[in-house]
Amino acid sequence: MLDLSYASCGNLLNNQYHPREDVRITIHEPDEHGAGDILISTEVVRGMRLEEYHIGDVGRLFEYSCPCGKSSVLEVLGRAGFDYVKLAGAILRQEEFDRVIARLNMFDDYRATFSSSYAGARLQGQGIVHIYRKDGVGTPALAREIATQIEKELFVTPTRTWGQLVEDGLLLPLDVVFVPKPFPVGNKPVRLRLT
Ligand SMILES: [Zn+2]
Repeated sequence: MLDLSYASCGNLLNNQYHPREDVRITIHEPDEHGAGDILISTEVVRGMRLEEYHIGDVGRLFEYSCPCGKSSVLEVLGRAGFDYVKLAGAILRQEEFDRVIARLNMFDDYRATFSSSYAGARLQGQGIVHIYRKDGVGTPALAREIATQIEKELFVTPTRTWGQLVEDGLLLPLDVVFVPKPFPVGNKPVRLRLT
């Protein structure tokens, strides 16, 4: 396993890293989000270099004046279609949903579906979070509270939350819907889907 970055910096999210100076990272054919296959070039042992090696994950590079003094950040998104979905200016990562939802600890399982539609000339994204609670409690007030908490905590760009993109008009407020039965159990369930 190649060691590509500094130990994760406390100022960054858990999928963001400052690249090491001796590792050159490029993004192959970045899309409109700046996301593409991560390619690395580095000397693995003395005199032996890897050039533009595909590590198999998608990611993006951005500049950020980190309080630690470093400014280059690699954000690792994972595998397209499994680990994240793209929606109207946002990238929704399952790991980030799982992080926020574990912190909230307000329900037992979830699946989320996303779609986008035009509001005038502008593409807007929306999402429905389907929630299962073992105790069966699910009131409209609780649904609104969960939606508000997720919007506040969930990062959907390197620096902005779902709620901030609602303010920008790129996303709509989340809908939360309670389901009466547990979700079917798979090997490794994909919890985020585009419809
Ligand atoms: Zn830092």
